[in-house]
Amino acid sequence: METRYKKSRQREKMLELLRATESHPSADWIYERLKKDFKNLSMGTVYRNLGILIDQGFVRKIDFGSTFDRFDANVTRHYHFVCEKCGAISDVEMPFDDALNRKAGRVGNFEVRSHRIEFFGVCRKCGK
Ligand code: ZN
Ligand code: MN
Repeated sequence: METRYKKSRQREKMLELLRATESHPSADWIYERLKKDFKNLSMGTVYRNLGILIDQGFVRKIDFGSTFDRFDANVTRHYHFVCEKCGAISDVEMPFDDALNRKAGRVGNFEVRSHRIEFFGVCRKCGK
């Protein structure tokens, strides 16, 4: 069942913001930027609207098991790189490896539909 949501200016702005950045921001980051335009914005509203955007398939939550979640408006299948020094998250421009699904499926006799890979190391800025 598809859930219908009332249109919301805050949510539209939020999606715009997320689509304009490649930084995979946290909810705090979104809140800091939106509160200038929406005076009575609360963190609760930010989280609720993020939840709706995820539900609608416009946004993806990246869970790194860290203290806070990061959000990505790029919902195509892609890999991430995490800098262990500054915490920056970047997209890794390499093709999604469907063969890996088949390989894991064969080994374990599973029906593998997807996988996640995160690369860790030091980003260009921190490596200097
Ligand atoms: Zn870094
Ligand atoms: Mn991404």
